[in-house]
Amino acid sequence: MKDRLKIYLVIVSILFIAIHITSEHLAKTVDEEVEIFNHHVSIFFNAHKIIYHITAIQGGVYSLEYGSFKDADQIKSHLKELERGIEGLSEGISFIYLNGMDDEEFRQYAQNTEAIKNLYPKYITHVNAVLAEDDVKLRQKQIEEVAEIGERMGYFIRELDNYMDVQHTEISAFLPTITDKMRFIRNVSGIFLWGAIVILSIVYFYSCKPLFRLLPYLSAIRNGEYDFKPELDNTRCENEIESTLKAVISRINDSEKSSSALSILDPLTGAYNRRYFDMRISEEMSRYSRHGTIFSLSIIDIDFFKKINDTLGHQAGDLVLREMVAVIRNNVRETDIVTRYGGEEFAVLSPYTPKSGVLTLVERLRGVVEGYKFSGLDHSLTISIGIADSAGKRTAEHIIEDADASLYIAKNSGRNKCVVAGAAA
Ligand code: GH3
Ligand code: MG
Ligand code: MG
Repeated sequence: MKDRLKIYLVIVSILFIAIHITSEHLAKTVDEEVEIFNHHVSIFFNAHKIIYHITAIQGGVYSLEYGSFKDADQIKSHLKELERGIEGLSEGISFIYLNGMDDEEFRQYAQNTEAIKNLYPKYITHVNAVLAEDDVKLRQKQIEEVAEIGERMGYFIRELDNYMDVQHTEISAFLPTITDKMRFIRNVSGIFLWGAIVILSIVYFYSCKPLFRLLPYLSAIRNGEYDFKPELDNTRCENEIESTLKAVISRINDSEKSSSALSILDPLTGAYNRRYFDMRISEEMSRYSRHGTIFSLSIIDIDFFKKINDTLGHQAGDLVLREMVAVIRNNVRETDIVTRYGGEEFAVLSPYTPKSGVLTLVERLRGVVEGYKFSGLDHSLTISIGIADSAGKRTAEHIIEDADASLYIAKNSGRNKCVVAGAAA
């Protein structure tokens, strides 16, 4: 799947989710409205219940007054129902009051309800007194009390009932619309949520998920193990990643190779390396062929170098090689090119100089080395040198052969010597 398309789809899903959240929020508000309405209904219902039971109790106690028999238990059960009605009313009123219906009028009804609640214990006491009193006069007194309190409670309730009647009519008018709206909002909200889920699943299904499989591969690359075989799935996406990494690795390999190929210095001694020597000698050679500018080559080999390695170790040998380069550099000319030709062999190219001119120089160098105190060595060290120049030569190989042959002679005639090609030692 195209990345751009994926981004669009994710944006669409985010929009869908936002719509879902907003609609849910709306639906919740509507829910709250409906719940408030239900409490209105319960207030309405309880108000009627209270009026009914007060009337019934009132009738009951009056029938006692007129001597007609009335069942006391029946009056008591009306009292119980009345109490329940008052509780329900008070509950409904405080719910609505706490849910924002905080206007002056409603506050008044909340206070009235509180008053009814407070009157009820008195009411029940007097009703019980009526039921228990045998003396007609005293009972008459209690009946009046009951009537009086019942009248007060009834007054509060009737006022509330009128008010609730208006409220009830208003709410009933818009409730069906609001519930329809809520149903619609809920449906839309659900559709958008499902839409987002489906889109995100599609995006996820078509997405690349090989990252965790790549981790060992990446850490292998970090550790330089470029031939590590990763366990990737044979999907287009993972193949793409693998081939990209392989291309990067092969570039790293190439650049490592070419950077070492480009280097001209010997890493151990810091002298120019053999590659540079080859390059420079052929340059000098072609200059000689074209312009006849002569140059010399001196090959220097340390005498009995193997012994140093054998007795003092390879590292001590390395140190001597480094110091030897410094000594050679300090005793040849600025323009001479000092290179490490082989293990413990060094080649010095001296431009514009014939072998006779070089001899004095290397002879002095030989003397300096002989008297030099190398670190870690308790004996002196000597070198043998073979010298040749370009005069009469056609290739660089010829000069090298000549210098080599001279070195061979120097070695075979006792070492610690400079031998010039074509001349006596
Ligand atoms: P001679 O030249 O006088 O005949 O004796 P030699 O002992 O020097 O013999 P040769 O030239 O054949 O041996 C060269 C030794 O140099 C062999 C090898 O172990 C050592 N060598 C070559 N390269 C290095 C290096 O980079 N470091 C060290 N420590 N030793 C090296
Ligand atoms: Mg050697
Ligand atoms: Mg040697």
